[in-house]
Amino acid sequence: MLPPGVELCAVSKFHPAEAVKEAYDAGQRIFGESRVQELLEKVKVLPPDIKWHFIGHLQTNKVRQLIGLTSLIESVDSIRLLELIDKESERAGVTTRVLMQLHVAREETKFGFYPEELLEYFSSRKFENLKATHICGVMGMASNTDDMNRVREDFRQIAATKEEILKIAPDLIGFDIVSMGMSGDWQIAVEEGANLVRIGTAIFGVRNYCQ
Ligand SMILES: *Cc1c(COP(=O)(O)O)cnc(C)c1O
Repeated sequence: MLPPGVELCAVSKFHPAEAVKEAYDAGQRIFGESRVQELLEKVKVLPPDIKWHFIGHLQTNKVRQLIGLTSLIESVDSIRLLELIDKESERAGVTTRVLMQLHVAREETKFGFYPEELLEYFSSRKFENLKATHICGVMGMASNTDDMNRVREDFRQIAATKEEILKIAPDLIGFDIVSMGMSGDWQIAVEEGANLVRIGTAIFGVRNYCQ
């Protein structure tokens, strides 16, 4: 299914812990959650070697609870959030791995940096002040449209922005993750350079949001 070198984050949000356990027993280790409370509840009852990815909008008042539980926070969407994650990670004595979320889709997503904002941040070299945070790459979503050319363009822009950041700051270490692609568009994302895909519905079925 996925070519070598592309990791799968199984997006388990809104699905019960039993569904995660089933996928775990089948060998899956990376799971994605979008709400802090739900992640906390699942962490309590599921095996400790699961690598939890946080993929939703993270409110600043929830950061402290989340620190130390994730293998990767994929959805850093403001410098304020980044700096708070750093502060709380330092306080907790851990290093937190994060991705910077890009906003390239037309209307749908409200969150994320515009490419030029991220380029500006890396030009400023303010990331050098981070003490307990490792920026590992970028995450993004394509426009929610049937126009697959549009989707491909969005993915291309996400991957290109990561390369531009590396040109601006070639000394960034381990800045190599491009997380893009969901159930409906992951093949295109992989063609355009994704090395991490986030797939929910195609694995767990349709989510029931009424809970
Ligand atoms: C829910 C979600 C996914 C998974 O979407 P599916 O269409 O169910 O595969 C991927 N990424 C993010 C950021 C999500 O919130």
